[in-house]
Amino acid sequence: MLDGERVPMSAFFEALYLDEATLRAMIAHAEAAAPEECVGLLFGREARVTRCAPLPNVADDKRHRFLAEPEGLLRALQEADARGEALLAIYHSHPSGRQEPSPRDLSEARYQAAQLIVVPQRGVVRAFRLEGTHYREIALIVERTS
Ligand SMILES: [Zn+2]
Repeated sequence: MLDGERVPMSAFFEALYLDEATLRAMIAHAEAAAPEECVGLLFGREARVTRCAPLPNVADDKRHRFLAEPEGLLRALQEADARGEALLAIYHSHPSGRQEPSPRDLSEARYQAAQLIVVPQRGVVRAFRLEGTHYREIALIVERTS
């Protein structure tokens, strides 16, 4: 499902590339979910995102937490595996306006993928990667859809 050869790669990306449509899809998802948090996955190859998979947030306290629906998560990972795509990033929103991962986001991080924070009311998306015990911001490069 997530073989050890591909997964750690995304941990070393200095930048993540995505197109405007993917950026807009994440912001629209966050706006629709507000005041609750939204969650989704970004798949692709190398450091280039090719697909966005929004998932239902099934956390108990959706205004302050996110938990991707397990069945949807599994389906999305299996579909990506079948397409030869890697999990590059997990995005979730902070309707509170906080633009960085929270201490809880850090303690609950389970995947070696970039973490994207979407702030719906500002239309801001920022990318971070886990480095040991903290997050470091990486560049998010938006490419024009041709
Ligand atoms: Zn968070």
